[in-house]
Amino acid sequence: MKRSFPIALLFLLTSVAASIVYAAVQQQTQTAVRLIDGAAEALGGRERILAVKTIVLEGYGETAYMNGGGNISASPDAPQKWVSIPEYEKTIDLEHRRLRVRQRNHQNFVFASAAGYLGTADLNTGYLDGQIAYNVNGQNGRGVRGTEAVARARRLDMLNNPVAIVRIALDPSTKLSNLRRQGNVQLVDVVTATDDRLTLAIDNASRLPSWVSWMERNENLGDITLRTSYTGYLPFKGVRLPMGYNTTIDFRNITATKIYVDKYAVDDLIDDLAAPPDVRSVPAPVPSPPPVPQVTPVARGVWLLHSAGGGGGGANSILFEFADHLTIFEAPSSQAWTKALMERARSTVPGKPLTEVIVSHHHFDHTGGIRQAIAEGLTVIAHKGTEGLFREIAARKGTIGPDAIGANPKPLKFLAVDDEKEMKDSTMEVHLYHAISQSHMAEGVFAYVPRDKLLVQADFFDVGWELYFWQNTYIDNIRHRNLQVDTDVPVHGRVLPLSQVLQDIQRMTKAAQELCDRTRAAGAFMPGCPVKTPAR
Ligand SMILES: [Zn+2]
Repeated sequence: MKRSFPIALLFLLTSVAASIVYAAVQQQTQTAVRLIDGAAEALGGRERILAVKTIVLEGYGETAYMNGGGNISASPDAPQKWVSIPEYEKTIDLEHRRLRVRQRNHQNFVFASAAGYLGTADLNTGYLDGQIAYNVNGQNGRGVRGTEAVARARRLDMLNNPVAIVRIALDPSTKLSNLRRQGNVQLVDVVTATDDRLTLAIDNASRLPSWVSWMERNENLGDITLRTSYTGYLPFKGVRLPMGYNTTIDFRNITATKIYVDKYAVDDLIDDLAAPPDVRSVPAPVPSPPPVPQVTPVARGVWLLHSAGGGGGGANSILFEFADHLTIFEAPSSQAWTKALMERARSTVPGKPLTEVIVSHHHFDHTGGIRQAIAEGLTVIAHKGTEGLFREIAARKGTIGPDAIGANPKPLKFLAVDDEKEMKDSTMEVHLYHAISQSHMAEGVFAYVPRDKLLVQADFFDVGWELYFWQNTYIDNIRHRNLQVDTDVPVHGRVLPLSQVLQDIQRMTKAAQELCDRTRAAGAFMPGCPVKTPAR
C-alpha cells in the first residue's frame, strides 16, 4: 500500500526549516556587522573612519615580473625577477570615491629597452572617478577613458586599504556574508553596491584588518586570487594605517607586489581627481576583437602569420604545412589573438587539421594564448623543463570570462623536446633544438627548416630592440648545431636575412655597452653591466 506524506506536515516542516535558515542568516549578518564595527573601532572609531575624506600613501616597492611568468626557467624554484617601483603614490578620495595611482617602474634585470632600466620621465598614472576609469596623456594632458574591466580593477585597488574596505563594509548598501573562522582571523565576504567582491580578514586579537583578497582574470592562468596583507599599523590623525602591503597570488604563492610606505597624509588637501568633461561624455570603450592576421609566405609550406604593421594584434606565429596536418610555432600574446592566428592558419591551408603548437619558451607574453591552444586540443611541443608549468596552467579554471578553458580544465597533451627533435614527413622537415648560450631563457627551443635555410626563433633577436644582452645566442646556436641559415623568421618583428640580424645584434650590443658606461659614469650600477659578451 502506498502511503503519502501528509501535505500539512510537509508544509509545516518546510516553513520551520525556512525560518531557521532565515534566523541563521539574520544572526550571521548581525555578527558580521559586529565584526566590522569592531574593526572600525580598532582603526580609530566608527565616527572617525566615516569622517575621513582623503588618504595619500607615498612609498616605493617591487612587483613580480609577469606575475612570475618571466623567469629564466619555468621551475617554481627559479629566482623571481623583480620590477622595482622607486616611486609610488596612491591618493584615495573617499568622499568622492576617486583614486589616483602614480608610479615609476624599472626592471632589475637585463632586457631590451633603455626605458626599462632607467624609467621614463612621465610617471605611470591611472585615475578612477566613481565608475569611470581614465588615464591622462603625459604629453598633451588629454584624458582617455578606460574599459569597464579597468574601472573594476581600480575600484578593487581603491578598496585595497584597511580604512577604505572597512568604510565600504559599514555602508548599508554593502552585503556581508559567509562569516567564518580561519586560524587567527575571522573572514567575511564583502559585496559592494557595484558588485565588487572581496574577502576581508579581521585579526582576532587586534581586531584590525589583516588582509583582503579578490579574484581577477589572467590571460595565462585563468582565475587568480590575489591577497594583500596589511602589517605594521601606526596612527595617523586618529586612524591606524599599515606601513606594509604585501600581495600574493594563488599561483605558486608568488609575491606579486610589495609596497613599503614612507608617509601617509590623512585629510590633507589633494588634487581634484574628477574625470574631465570630455572623458565623462564618452562611453567606456568596449574591447574590440583582434584584427584578422596577415599572411606572408616565407617558403613552400611555411607562412608568417602577423598583425598589419605590428599594430592591433600581437606577436607572430609561424605556420608549417605537413602532409596530413598543420603545426604552428608559438601561441603568443593573448587567447583572442592566438584564436585569430589559429583560424588564419586553418583558412590558409583548408582541409588539413591544425594539431600542434611548438612553444618557444614559457614566458607569459609567448604563452598568452596557451589556454586557447590547450582548449582546442592541440598538442603542446616545448622544452621538457616547461611541462610542469603547462600542466599547472591546464589545470586552472577560468570562470571569469572570456576564458578558453573555462570552468572545466582540460588534460594537457604535451610532447617534450630534450636536446633536439626531428619533425619530418613527405612534405615538410623541421628540426627543433634546445637553445644554448641564452641568458634570457634556459628552456628555449628554436626551429630550423633545412630545405629553405630558415631559423625560426623567439627572443633570440627582435629588430625593434634597442639593447642586446643575450650573449652570442644567435651565432652560437647556428655553430653548435652546424646549421646553414640564410633567413631569420621571428616571433617578434619581420623576416630578415641573417646578415642583417647579425649586424643589428652588434649595433644593439654596442648600445648596451654605452648605456652601461653612461650609468657607471653617473655612479649607478645596472644589472648585466658591463656587457658580458661585448660587440666584436
Ligand atoms: Zn622571453
